[in-house]
Amino acid sequence: MVDVLAIFAHPDDAEFMCGGTLIRARDFGHATGILDLTAGELGTRGTAEIRAREAQAAARVLGLSVRVNLALPDARLENSLEARTRLVEAIRRLRPRVVVLPYPGGRHPDHRVAGQLGYDACYLAGLKKFPTQGDPHRPRKVLYAIAYSQQTRKPTFVVDTTEAFERKLEALRCYRSQFEGVQGLGELLPAGVPLPELVKIHDARYGSLIRRPYGEPFYTRETMRVEDVAALDVQSI
Ligand SMILES: [Zn+2]
Repeated sequence: MVDVLAIFAHPDDAEFMCGGTLIRARDFGHATGILDLTAGELGTRGTAEIRAREAQAAARVLGLSVRVNLALPDARLENSLEARTRLVEAIRRLRPRVVVLPYPGGRHPDHRVAGQLGYDACYLAGLKKFPTQGDPHRPRKVLYAIAYSQQTRKPTFVVDTTEAFERKLEALRCYRSQFEGVQGLGELLPAGVPLPELVKIHDARYGSLIRRPYGEPFYTRETMRVEDVAALDVQSI
């Protein structure tokens, strides 16, 4: 069982999109996990076996309690009944309170599908009579990771990942087959600098939105609640 579960399409997606957030959640004493929907077997670089080894190495750096791979078909991911059922079973087994999903935009079709598939499975996992194994469980909170998106959407909030940023880079470096000598990956389009530098530039920009060195941005469909306006953080002017 985990407190925070990131569900993404390919091994390394979660590290890019919310690696710092998962590290910070672990620092705060929460059990964290990543569910990779596919093994990334159709990726340009590496093989499914190499990527699996890299993913386990990255899991250790992130301090994950669990990392599972559903082995759904890479580059052909579908929000099908079969895929939803497999994911419902995994959610019922892991019982996360918070789920992090890719925002259903992005270039890679799997990234778009993963956001919708993840959301639907979180809902269906709570239906008592949904016909599959496991006790019903619905995560309380769904967060969409919106880092590196080409679509500009104001984040609902930014997680301060300053204390985690070096460890996030270390986790990303575990993906040697994906990372070495590469200038862009996934939703991170090349900008003429090495990939770690590019991640640094983006995460520093998100950090600046909350007046901190590094951050990761999230969007929620629902509105955030505030109790005490006098205690509100982040300088306006
Ligand atoms: Zn991906």
